Amino acid sequence: MLCPLCGSDAVLVHAGLAGYQAPARFDVYDCGLCGAEFSWPMSGGEAIYERIYRSIKSIPGYSRYLSYAENVAKQASPLDYLANKEESYWATAVTLRALRERSGRQLKVLDVGSGMGYLTYALHRDGFDVKGVDVSRKAVETAEARFGRLFVCSSLEDLLHEGPGFDVVILNQLVEHVVDVRSLLENAVKVASPSGRILVTTPNRSFSRNGAVWETDLPPVHYWWFSERSLEYISGHLGCDLELFDFSGFYSAHYVRENRAIFPSANARRHFLDSNGEPCIKLQPPPMDWWLERLAEKVGGAGGYRTVRESLTGERRISGKRGRVSCAILTKGVGK
Ligand SMILES: [Zn+2]
Repeated sequence: MLCPLCGSDAVLVHAGLAGYQAPARFDVYDCGLCGAEFSWPMSGGEAIYERIYRSIKSIPGYSRYLSYAENVAKQASPLDYLANKEESYWATAVTLRALRERSGRQLKVLDVGSGMGYLTYALHRDGFDVKGVDVSRKAVETAEARFGRLFVCSSLEDLLHEGPGFDVVILNQLVEHVVDVRSLLENAVKVASPSGRILVTTPNRSFSRNGAVWETDLPPVHYWWFSERSLEYISGHLGCDLELFDFSGFYSAHYVRENRAIFPSANARRHFLDSNGEPCIKLQPPPMDWWLERLAEKVGGAGGYRTVRESLTGERRISGKRGRVSCAILTKGVGK
């Protein structure tokens, strides 16, 4: 099997992984050259989002996005609100604000795959001249009804005629969903202004234990699981300079447990939707130790609780530059 990203020979590492929706199954390949895992076949993704959004309140991992969409506009600083929720928004906020300060002017930003629209809205409220773009008409209509006319229903390819005008092109948690990721990235470079930035965030395979297979959303929700080496390959292919965002600021401000295996092993992974598209893994209530930790926070004893918990379980908090998500800051090369 040839890797759809770099064209090199890839090795089968797991056959018959349960797909997001029953009864689909997928094979998982590992590419030695670009360090990506990918699922095969690469099809079915378009239809699955409608089913996920239909039941979003009860699907583990997705319900939080609805909560962001419902709550972001009530915040004094919507961008800070999102940045403190997840690594990918933190990286986006820190990088864009630093670029704005350095340039001393308003930045023109394109948020590709804007989905529910809350990140586009948060950037708009923070003073960026931002446009959200999504191929789903339903997503754009929903986002506009909530956040106003900040969105356009289009593919990135259809924006090429506008020429290279964006200071920053954001691909937030998007590349892992896209079959033809090469074209997407090439088009992102084309719409970026000279020396513009392309911001790519994606689940980080390099953070997992050696030998872990597909510790990311099941295909066809995710088709890819990229490592830091994949981001280096992409940057080289696009003729861009690469900086990997340093997450130590996020992890020193937020207590996040290492718990690297967020998902069970590939062998134990189960379908999330049944063959009718109804959820078959329900949201679980938080475990007892989650409540204990909240209680400890309330009475100002979170530090002590966590120290005891770490010594009992051996689970550590994440610290340092690298975490569950990676963020590549690509700077467009001259002449591209
Ligand atoms: Zn490859």
